[in-house]
Amino acid sequence: MQFCLHEMGVVDRVRKLSAHKNLSDDLIDAILEGSGLFAQEVLAPINHLGDIKGATISDGVVSTPEGFAEAYQKFVGGGWASLPFNPLYGGQNLPWVIAAATQEMWISANTSWSLCQILTTGAVELLSEYGTDEQKSLYLGKLISGSWSGTMNLTEPQAGSDLGKLSCRAIPAGDHYNIQGQKIYITYGDHDMAENIIHFVLARTPNSNKGPKGISLFIVPKVLVNPDGTLGALNGLRCLSLEKKLGINASPTCVMSYGDKDRAVGYLVGEEGRGLNAMFTMMNNARLNIGISGLAIAERAYQQAREYAKERCQFGPIIKHPDIRRMLMTMKAQIEAMRAVIFEAALALDYAKKSPGLEQQARIDLLIPMVKAWCTDLGVEITSLAIQIHGGAGFIESTGIAQHFRDARIAPIYEGTNGIQSIDLISRKVLRDEGTAMFSWINDARRVISNGSQNGVSKATQQGLDHLTELTEWMLEISESFANPALAGANAYLRIFGVVAGGIQLSKATELANKPKYKTSEFHNAKLITAKFYSNHILPQISGLRQTIEYGHEEVMKLPENSF
Ligand SMILES: Cc1cc2nc3c(=O)[nH]c(=O)nc-3n(C[C@H](O)[C@H](O)[C@H](O)COP(=O)(O)OP(=O)(O)OC[C@H]3O[C@@H](n4cnc5c(N)ncnc54)[C@H](O)[C@@H]3O)c2cc1C
Repeated sequence: MQFCLHEMGVVDRVRKLSAHKNLSDDLIDAILEGSGLFAQEVLAPINHLGDIKGATISDGVVSTPEGFAEAYQKFVGGGWASLPFNPLYGGQNLPWVIAAATQEMWISANTSWSLCQILTTGAVELLSEYGTDEQKSLYLGKLISGSWSGTMNLTEPQAGSDLGKLSCRAIPAGDHYNIQGQKIYITYGDHDMAENIIHFVLARTPNSNKGPKGISLFIVPKVLVNPDGTLGALNGLRCLSLEKKLGINASPTCVMSYGDKDRAVGYLVGEEGRGLNAMFTMMNNARLNIGISGLAIAERAYQQAREYAKERCQFGPIIKHPDIRRMLMTMKAQIEAMRAVIFEAALALDYAKKSPGLEQQARIDLLIPMVKAWCTDLGVEITSLAIQIHGGAGFIESTGIAQHFRDARIAPIYEGTNGIQSIDLISRKVLRDEGTAMFSWINDARRVISNGSQNGVSKATQQGLDHLTELTEWMLEISESFANPALAGANAYLRIFGVVAGGIQLSKATELANKPKYKTSEFHNAKLITAKFYSNHILPQISGLRQTIEYGHEEVMKLPENSF
């Protein structure tokens, strides 16, 4: 993290924003050390137990596992919840690049626990952007401090990826709306960690447009809030049940019911019929955090696998075997690539927020689906490799490594499945603006590479950039007549984008680590070898993926449905 932030120049670039020009190295170090200690001493020790015990519901009351609520109180007490937010409402106005580093540590230490504050972060973003002054003064301070938590209520049984199908209703009743309906899979929909839970619920008003344009967004507090900010009566909503899941067992995944007994009071956020727009604006931030979760779990699994490989002896310590080394290097190289790409994305988010402009917004909009999908797919692949390194012990729960694999598996599914992310990348971010944002990113990437001396990594990355350029041109051309080839290749295209983005960062790292002053530095020597590994083992995937897009698209849809 320190290498990315300081040597790769992330902090220097964030300081160019006037909002962060006084950000000191001492402050950054203090935050990284403090959040690392919090992760290590408070969150990590309750991770495994949380997985075994899971969240529970009894007589309608949801409880998180032992230690979760206490950890949350410490988190709020330590001021950790408010790092990147508006100082007007008690935030600390730190850049997202610093928040990204802290998020990685907390999610690494305890993914299930971290989801509560990730969702609250999304709620803060949403309210900051779309709330009225009154709504902000009533809810924002408490959400920013973490005293209250937030949730996102989109999904219904018939409306998952296709949110246009949702049917939850919002009936006008004077100064508010009565919300009626059920939502499923709501993360931290109920729990015992915060004083109040502010639900952000998508619902339809009467006689509204039948599709996505008829959907509006509502604040629905668990406990109603009086005009003076004090807590009032319980609102008419409840958690009906908790889902039993593959992973993130300690995170309560709730079936929520609104207005089935007592009325559930909701307040409109933004304009009627513009709920999906509001939700999707906020999602850049939430998706960045989910991308970080892919990296974070991968890092945790890597650390555990590395230690196991040093201790376990079969024909000598297994770390001596080339196949084990191949797996460790595959993990390490991609983790370092992801981390550097995530810092670049967080920086782009800081620029879009603090120096707003169409170009800055287009850049972050382009990067987000890639970061979300590439990093969460790698999270699953890397945690799977960690199990493989453990051999049979990897399959046994008491080793603890299986939890990371199970916890990582949800991230490619929620916050928009990775299939939906790749469609978003191709359709909305590349084709819609005729490749402008993508070509602008490619040009900047070429500049980064050509600024350095030509090393092996940068040459391989250069080839990757050529593939990405030509493929983007191909996508633009073919999609003028046919939609399917672009959609059939969307997943591979997104992967290529991620692999190239990682290559750019590792060639830059190579350039820095090659400086004569680092000749005897073990850390910088490891950077050089890791980047070279990425160049020889990961970047070559691009040409194969390109082939599947250009030559393999027909077979994707050719088999008649009844032949499956
Ligand atoms: C543990 C957990 C926590 C969750 N937390 C929340 C939460 O807090 N709030 C919330 O609102 N929701 C939450 N969700 C719901 C989650 O966001 C959805 O599950 C997800 O968006 C996918 O919707 P779905 O499950 O209906 O799958 P479907 O939409 O039925 O998708 C099934 C498959 O079809 C693919 N697919 C769908 N449409 C297309 C298309 N047009 N082109 C190509 N492929 C397509 C998908 O990629 C997927 O592979 C959570 C889910 C889980 C499991």
